[in-house]
Amino acid sequence: MFVDKVKIRIKAGDGGNGAVSFHREKYVAAGGPDGGDGGRGGNIVFVADTNLSTLMDFKFKKRYFAENGKAGSGGRSNGRSAPDLVIKVPKGTVVREAESGRVMADLSTSEPVIVARGGKGGWGNSHFATPTRQVPRFSKPGLPGEEYEVLLELKLLADVGLVGFPNVGKSTLLSMVSAAKPEIANYHFTTLTPVLGVVSIGEGESFVMADIPGLIEGASEGVGLGHEFLRHIERCRLIVHVVDVSGCEGRDPMEDYRTIREELQNFNEELAALPQIVAANKCDIASQEQVEAFCAQLAEQTQGVFPISAATRSGVDALMKEVWRLVKSLPPIKQYEIEHVPLSMRERLAKNVFDIRVEDGVYLVEADWLMPTLGMVDMDDYESLQYFQRVLRSSGIIDRLEEMGIQEGDAVSILNFEFDYIK
Ligand code: GDP
Ligand code: MG
Repeated sequence: MFVDKVKIRIKAGDGGNGAVSFHREKYVAAGGPDGGDGGRGGNIVFVADTNLSTLMDFKFKKRYFAENGKAGSGGRSNGRSAPDLVIKVPKGTVVREAESGRVMADLSTSEPVIVARGGKGGWGNSHFATPTRQVPRFSKPGLPGEEYEVLLELKLLADVGLVGFPNVGKSTLLSMVSAAKPEIANYHFTTLTPVLGVVSIGEGESFVMADIPGLIEGASEGVGLGHEFLRHIERCRLIVHVVDVSGCEGRDPMEDYRTIREELQNFNEELAALPQIVAANKCDIASQEQVEAFCAQLAEQTQGVFPISAATRSGVDALMKEVWRLVKSLPPIKQYEIEHVPLSMRERLAKNVFDIRVEDGVYLVEADWLMPTLGMVDMDDYESLQYFQRVLRSSGIIDRLEEMGIQEGDAVSILNFEFDYIK
């Protein structure tokens, strides 16, 4: 089974919590704070593996969670950081965030890419001791690891893509010029999965050519198989458009040519704009007039028209030479630029973004990022509360409350915690 598009969920590990602990020793009364820090959560890392050729494994396992960092403990002992979770994908896989569609990684090189970052561990209470605060009864929670639903799409890495109607001879051509063994048969849709072949031109000179299932009319609207596979030639540098010039299946070659061009155009303008060479195939069973008429009509519209017979190999070498000449002059295989995190999420978590509204005289503060802090604060502990107040002040929440006209004794509600405002 060939799978080239899947959706999975990934989650990096959460950071471990910092510890609250005090040094204890016989005969030593009040030891100092010695709570260690939490460890970092594991990252989710993607890496290209050339032994893989499909995304099939992801059909069966759809959730990938990295381990959390361990919590800190007493004696200034820091929690262990969790190892990265490495996910192997076929070379050419593009990772997108499902929600926004932004590109998070393009695994077209062997370089591993961190797609979701593990949360940092929280500080233990030993960090919070000051001359005036010798008994800090609080520590910092670990930060949550990033979590995403991602779309994996395999976009093969080929220099040249073969397109055309089913049965025009694309697979035959690839099998003639490379060691690839695509299936060939005289019926439509013999080729069901893309096949790559390396075409060797001379010493050290070669390019990769992709055979994809034939396009049929309406493919770009999702009719039939063709559409599904066009994404595999999106990275190509050049298109070889194969046309059955003999019309042996009762269609008109010029008509075929225009139909496929329209399909490409409808699928993706960029794809349609790629340089293109036309291979007028099955010349061995076409009449001289058919071939000449077809070539004459197209000569001016494309980078070249080559009468060939994939079956007898006549004209094939000349075609490949020209393909190579053009490929050498073209920009390299397309890579997808990584689009960095839209600020919205990072902002909410890291930049202390909050929202305050008043309902029934209560000031309701919404701030997702405060959640872990609140979970760790001990409201019965004076030092802990003071720390919490400082967070409120440094993040600008107190200023905003005052701007909104809060008065002494007014109720403030943050998440599920309520208190009276005191200046
Ligand atoms: P694809 O669907 O475009 O990949 O077409 P195939 O390569 O599978 O070929 C379809 C049929 O056309 C097969 O029976 C081939 O043997 C035949 N064919 C391919 N090229 C030629 C050619 O140059 N001349 C002739 N006479 N038949 C060909
Ligand atoms: Mg084929």
